[in-house]
Amino acid sequence: MDILLESHLYQDTLKLLNETAEAMRLDPNIHERLKKPKRAIMVSIPVRMDDNSVKVFDGYRVQHSLTLGPCKGGIRYHENVSLSEVAALAMLMTFKCSLAGLPLGGAKGGVKVNASKLSRTEKQRLTRRYTSELSMFIGPDKDIPAPDMGTDAQTMAWIMDTYSQELGHAVPGVVTGKPIEIGGSLGRSTSTGRGVIYTVEKACEHLKIKQDKSVKVIVQGFGEVGASAATCADELGLSVVGVSDVNCGLYNEGGLNINAVKEYYAKNKSLKGYKEAQEISNQDLLTLKCDILVPAAIDGVINSKNANQIKARMIAEGANGPVTHDGHKILVDNGKFIIPDILANAGGVIVSYFEWVQDLQNFFWTEQEINSRLRTIMNNNFKVMIETSLNQKVDTRKAAMIAAVHRVSSAMLLRGLYPQ
Ligand code: GLU
Repeated sequence: MDILLESHLYQDTLKLLNETAEAMRLDPNIHERLKKPKRAIMVSIPVRMDDNSVKVFDGYRVQHSLTLGPCKGGIRYHENVSLSEVAALAMLMTFKCSLAGLPLGGAKGGVKVNASKLSRTEKQRLTRRYTSELSMFIGPDKDIPAPDMGTDAQTMAWIMDTYSQELGHAVPGVVTGKPIEIGGSLGRSTSTGRGVIYTVEKACEHLKIKQDKSVKVIVQGFGEVGASAATCADELGLSVVGVSDVNCGLYNEGGLNINAVKEYYAKNKSLKGYKEAQEISNQDLLTLKCDILVPAAIDGVINSKNANQIKARMIAEGANGPVTHDGHKILVDNGKFIIPDILANAGGVIVSYFEWVQDLQNFFWTEQEINSRLRTIMNNNFKVMIETSLNQKVDTRKAAMIAAVHRVSSAMLLRGLYPQ
């Protein structure tokens, strides 16, 4: 399947899997099976646009592994979406779910579209037709989508409604990240960012960094993940000195007023023009002096070109794949502490799992219960990663991967190969 190798993200994810397999002496049969997705679905999505014309969009859903349970993973609307990129993200989801100990496999979906150029009605028609094309393959016990870049709770509500209309009854468990009113979970919208900061807290303890205002944090990306990570870091008493969105970066050496930035962003839908900070480029934001850097926007932003200029001591990957394979090597050589994506940003899928469980039981938990269960799982994952890293003398990314691959591979061996 050469088509899978087209994106850098798939090539990098495969390199990581291969290195992990070597480090843990993985059974070669399991290794071969993990290299490729179990199933990849390609759909064309005809959409009636507001001007009455019909546009056809390319959509994908890749199910990498169903060994541990139904597949789980977001749906992304972005103009760079490709089968190869979605397949790489699906593979990362398998390892993310496995490391977190969830009874779920990995999947990802995407539509190649710039959603910001669609009207609300166009986005709704696109979402409903995409769901209808996929309805055979998704479901609470098959594959459960969730939000990702370019999609949100409203998008999930349309998916839930379309799927439910086709079945003739409400099926809230078909997606997570839904609005609360239709079976969503408290705490889901902030869970990824919150989880990132839970791991940062643990990493500070591990590195003996005192958690106070002297610790400077920079967050790239001001979507659901970035904004909630910045808020949590601020609540924790750290000083958030830089944030950015697609339009620009903001920097204030003395610390940003995160609530004021959030208000400004909600009103203007952009960070551009915010007065209480210096405006800088997204690229320059990454290389500023700080202690903790949280890349929470897109993949590949830290790479061989800029990794040597990264000054942060700790990098917590809020996005999926924000550091390339080459970039990672440079960071490790420079002694940086990396909290890899499959650990750092797992908070989203963990609370998605809680949402799915609540939907199946029709019994809902308090936000406090959700956040405290999330913290327990994140802390435990961090501990597993550090112990593996120290015991096996491997970097943190490889350590997280070894633990994740170990759980999936044990399950695959126990289930065996059908037919024999
Ligand atoms: N899209 C998110 C991720 O990449 C969440 C997936 C989910 O909740 O299923 O982890």
